[in-house]
Amino acid sequence: MIPFNKPYLTGKEAHYLYQAVYSGKISGNGLYTNKCQDFFENKYGFRKTLLTTSCTDALEMCAILLDIKEGDEIIMPSYTFVSTSNAFVLRGAVIRFADSCIHNPNINPELIEQLITPKTKAIVVVHYAGIACDMDVLMDIANRNNLFVVEDAAQAIDSFYKGNPLGSIGHLAAFSFHETKNIISGEGGMLVINDERFVERSEIIWEKGTNRAAFFRGDVDKYGWVDVGSSFLPAEIVSAFLYAQLENLEDIQRRRKKIWNYYYQNLKQLESEGKINLPLIPDYATNNGHMFYMVCNSLKERQKLIQHLRDNDILAVFHYLSLHKSSFYADKHDGRTLSECDRYADNLVRLPLFYELSDSNLQFIVNTILNYFK
Ligand SMILES: *Cc1c(COP(=O)(O)O)cnc(C)c1O
Repeated sequence: MIPFNKPYLTGKEAHYLYQAVYSGKISGNGLYTNKCQDFFENKYGFRKTLLTTSCTDALEMCAILLDIKEGDEIIMPSYTFVSTSNAFVLRGAVIRFADSCIHNPNINPELIEQLITPKTKAIVVVHYAGIACDMDVLMDIANRNNLFVVEDAAQAIDSFYKGNPLGSIGHLAAFSFHETKNIISGEGGMLVINDERFVERSEIIWEKGTNRAAFFRGDVDKYGWVDVGSSFLPAEIVSAFLYAQLENLEDIQRRRKKIWNYYYQNLKQLESEGKINLPLIPDYATNNGHMFYMVCNSLKERQKLIQHLRDNDILAVFHYLSLHKSSFYADKHDGRTLSECDRYADNLVRLPLFYELSDSNLQFIVNTILNYFK
């Protein structure tokens, strides 16, 4: 069976893990945490980064930093992972789900302004498949309405909008290093703070509501409880693993993009025949090889295609179910129909994409798809 995903190891993980374990400091905020954070700050120019135990945790930190309270409203796409909304629902927020674009599953900026009320606090955008949302338009809406923007950049490492790294544009951003992403640490994530106003407090929330990070830097002579917070920082063991991955970022990205391009080049004929739609990458966006998806013309067609691939030992999978229709949120949703979101939920299928996917397997997958549509 060709799996959908296979976590890739660069070979250095065990070595750095060993180093971390025998350095005598295995809790968080040590050498490897700082190496990883420095890597991101230097490479992408993020104002400040904090490793977290997951992207989910980084999103929860965003909700705390933005001071989200009972009844505050947050606008976000319905076609996303549950954590995007759960992080805000945990603080009592009401989610106003917006529909996706016609040409890709990102939030449709044209539908946002009609959802803004005096209670709206933030817009959370998701760069689906690592392909940028139209950030100039979104930031303009946010600025005119005095709202914060959080980028759920879980899938968006090393991807750009008009030359700017994703994760550097919103007030805050969250990345994931879950084993299904491009760069992994098993579970793992990172908060990016781009707005100066959140820099100091972010570190306190990260360290259980204490100013311990400042204490270790020597900025204060004792540390104590100064704010709310939780245990968001990963152990050095996790960041040591992550560092090995980051050292190989370019190589990993090169291979993933090569696979992505092969799929695209060999399947675009099906698109011109009207049988499927392929990902559209707008001029302002780049592709980071996170995911290769196709959109079928119907749910039935997608199910038949997935079955056909499975019959040929290929595991292809669908993706999100509409959050506004979920059993948890359906009765809290305001009743609007989100037809593009539902279309992606029904018709989108993701193909195997991982570093070690061989060229022969890749050819086989493409041929199996071409045969299906013959
Ligand atoms: C993977 C993912 C998350 C969650 O990441 P974790 O690190 O597993 O918490 C959140 N949002 C999106 C869009 C994702 O793809």
